Amino acid sequence: MPRKVLQQKNNSNSSNSEASTSVSQLHKASTGKRSNNSTSTTKKKKVSVKPPKPPAHQKRQGMCWARKTNGAVCDQKRAKGQDIPYCKHHLRKGDGAVKVVNHPDPIHGKILVARYPLKRGYQFVYWGKRERITPENEKNDDRQIHFFLNDFTQYGVIDPTDIDGCVMQFAASPGKSEWPTLHTTSNHFGTSTSRTAGRSYQLIRDVKTNEQVAHSYGNEWFEGRGIKRVDVGCVKYPLPKRPIAPKTLEKIKEKQRKEREKLKKAKEMEEARLKRKKEREEERTARDHKKQRELRMKRRKLMNRNIA
Ligand SMILES: [Zn+2]
Repeated sequence: MPRKVLQQKNNSNSSNSEASTSVSQLHKASTGKRSNNSTSTTKKKKVSVKPPKPPAHQKRQGMCWARKTNGAVCDQKRAKGQDIPYCKHHLRKGDGAVKVVNHPDPIHGKILVARYPLKRGYQFVYWGKRERITPENEKNDDRQIHFFLNDFTQYGVIDPTDIDGCVMQFAASPGKSEWPTLHTTSNHFGTSTSRTAGRSYQLIRDVKTNEQVAHSYGNEWFEGRGIKRVDVGCVKYPLPKRPIAPKTLEKIKEKQRKEREKLKKAKEMEEARLKRKKEREEERTARDHKKQRELRMKRRKLMNRNIA
């Protein structure tokens, strides 16, 4: 079955439109800048989007990427003999910036939300055991993601199942009318021989307290499992809503107009049918009355004769 967001090469030409939305936007914005200067201004002005910048504490060499549950930056060194940029504590507990909670609707199971406001650019590591793809672990691929080295070569998969410290495995996938708050990157941790491996994910928008940290698994993930993609945001744990595109809005309006017309037609037809029915009934009663009158006349005649 397809794993979460198949990433073929790297972010900018990833085949998954959902996950790479923001990245392609960035790409357009960065390449667009040059062309905007040289070409005429007939094109619509695009809002320039700067690539998300990781927070300063995630640029420190050899230090843990996580933040504590109280918001402070972790001051520990990365765990020894480990490629994942977390200290021993945060490998076990997961980044304190987020927490795993149960969605109010049990259909969604566990989800990942921000413990406090987080800035766009914040990075999380989706990590787990590095495993070879075998028919056996194919059965257990719900949470696996592909592990790439040099952006191209795949060295098995990252399997976080049973590792509670990898909180990223609980991040939900947004529904069709919602935006993701995270995207996947081509930044991988591990080697072709390491036991664990990881890939960094990055916030593509600011996230408020209790807002969901979610990334698209890709349509194939849902199709392969026969699961319908539904919206996952709720009052308690929201996700940003996608605005309705003008074209879609037009389509919706057109559909509604057609439906109204269809209803009107059906109503008219029903009214005509009822009218015909009424007319037939009236004809029938008139006929019956006539018959009865004739019968009465006959009887009277007979009676008259008998009396005579
Ligand atoms: Zn730490």
